[in-house]
Amino acid sequence: MTEILFYGGPIITVDSTHIDPEAVAVADGKIVCVGSRLDAEKSLSSKAHCIDLEGKSLLPGFIDAHSHPLWAAKTRGAPVVDVRAETVPTYAALMGKIKRRVAVAEPGEYLLFFGLDAQLHPDMESPSRETLDEIAPNNPIGIQTSNCHALYLNSAGLQACGIDENFETPTGSIIERDENKRPTGKIAEAITWSTLEYFYEAWGDIRLSEGFATTVQEFVENGITTTTEHLYMPFYKVYFQNALKHGWAMPRIAAYQQATTSDMAVESLSEGDDRLWMAGVKIHADGSPFIGNIWLTQPYLENEITLHRMDLKPGHTGSLNYPQDYFEEMVRTYFSQGWQMTVHTQGDRTIDMVLDLVEVLLKETPRPDHRFRLEHCALMREDQIERAKELGVICSFFINHITHWGGPIEDALFGPERAAHYMPAGTAVKKGMRISLHADTPMTDPSALELMKASMTRTAKDGRCLGQDECLDVMTALKSVTIDAAFQIGMEDKLGSISVEKHADFVILESNPLETDAANIADIKVVSTYLAGERIWHND
Ligand SMILES: [Zn+2]
Repeated sequence: MTEILFYGGPIITVDSTHIDPEAVAVADGKIVCVGSRLDAEKSLSSKAHCIDLEGKSLLPGFIDAHSHPLWAAKTRGAPVVDVRAETVPTYAALMGKIKRRVAVAEPGEYLLFFGLDAQLHPDMESPSRETLDEIAPNNPIGIQTSNCHALYLNSAGLQACGIDENFETPTGSIIERDENKRPTGKIAEAITWSTLEYFYEAWGDIRLSEGFATTVQEFVENGITTTTEHLYMPFYKVYFQNALKHGWAMPRIAAYQQATTSDMAVESLSEGDDRLWMAGVKIHADGSPFIGNIWLTQPYLENEITLHRMDLKPGHTGSLNYPQDYFEEMVRTYFSQGWQMTVHTQGDRTIDMVLDLVEVLLKETPRPDHRFRLEHCALMREDQIERAKELGVICSFFINHITHWGGPIEDALFGPERAAHYMPAGTAVKKGMRISLHADTPMTDPSALELMKASMTRTAKDGRCLGQDECLDVMTALKSVTIDAAFQIGMEDKLGSISVEKHADFVILESNPLETDAANIADIKVVSTYLAGERIWHND
């Protein structure tokens, strides 16, 4: 039995019953004492391993309440070529990179590029199938947008994935077509992800296993000891089991199985001592604000970005991904089976519809502690937050939108009034909601400290602050990536704070985040990560 005693630095428990303890004792992967050094020592044998923090801070391991580690490995790992704006700043440069890759491709090789961005690639055109055919006549080619929700294909790509004029558009998906019903090459929402599987399959399993190893490493290097797989599909299980079997340093994973129909069997999943479990069901109500697929009460702004790069019509207010009846039937089915529901909602009109539905469902199937989650919540209004609170609905905010796309959100998409309350985490907290924050990796990198900084400063890349009133204080930000995130995945009794009987998951930080300026919080070095009392990462 491994025993450890931590002492010698600030211990931030995030548990109001243990403020500023001197020491923490761990035995057999669990926390056995939090308190004075003497008491902690007494709770262990003489063989305990003593760790002097030397002034560094011990915190509960971070929890990212909505991410996609396995899907991230598929989306971002080689041979996918990174064309995000931070790598190639213009559309012209992006096209140049694609041409260079095509020039060295084997005949028929599947080529995939990730990161086209209508907001951040200033000279962006919608790549047509004809343009892509000219560049790559002999290779299936796909360009995925940085928000993950859309994909542009050439003719070989469409053919390889079975999409032609006779192919029926699945419910919940978009296939853009010309007047002869011929696909233009642009597809969006659910079909994007199923189509990408053709590319991944062509590359084989080894690539995915290697990519997954790199991705989970990225999470633990950032002190994340628990995250979710928020679009879980049954064939993912083998990769997670493999990682556990080989003892990889993988965070604990709460799986949310993706539903696109109401007749899916939700897997029962439970591996190790809370290493991997089925937490609930994920459904998209709407899509990405960055391609116009969210449902709004007020239209998008009209300008070069929305009308040209995003191809929206004037007065665009978007729509739901699925017909409303179809969507409601899906949610009703899995809610009545007792699953925790997590529903992707970005537009305020979408949120109205979902809250109406929750009210009906709670009358049909009363559940006192359902923890129905709304994911991302970009344009949620104050009245909706109040209503959500009354219904017991909780929100997880994709706060990194502000860091990465804050400028275009205000100037091009929604204007200053809506931007000031975009991802309204501050209002939700003021109304008494326990919120969480997430990086939604692969969309942004997994870093809880980045999430804290984004929620505390709401500062975009160009330095502007989007809505000072919505900023969080440091303790609230910390809770939203520890104990309140644990609450949102139904694990607050086992994870999320340094409390007796919980799993011994910790992160050691070079300096104390409670005493660091918000602007510098993401620069704090992660020194070590512990999972179940075992050190799984150390930064020498
Ligand atoms: Zn997601």
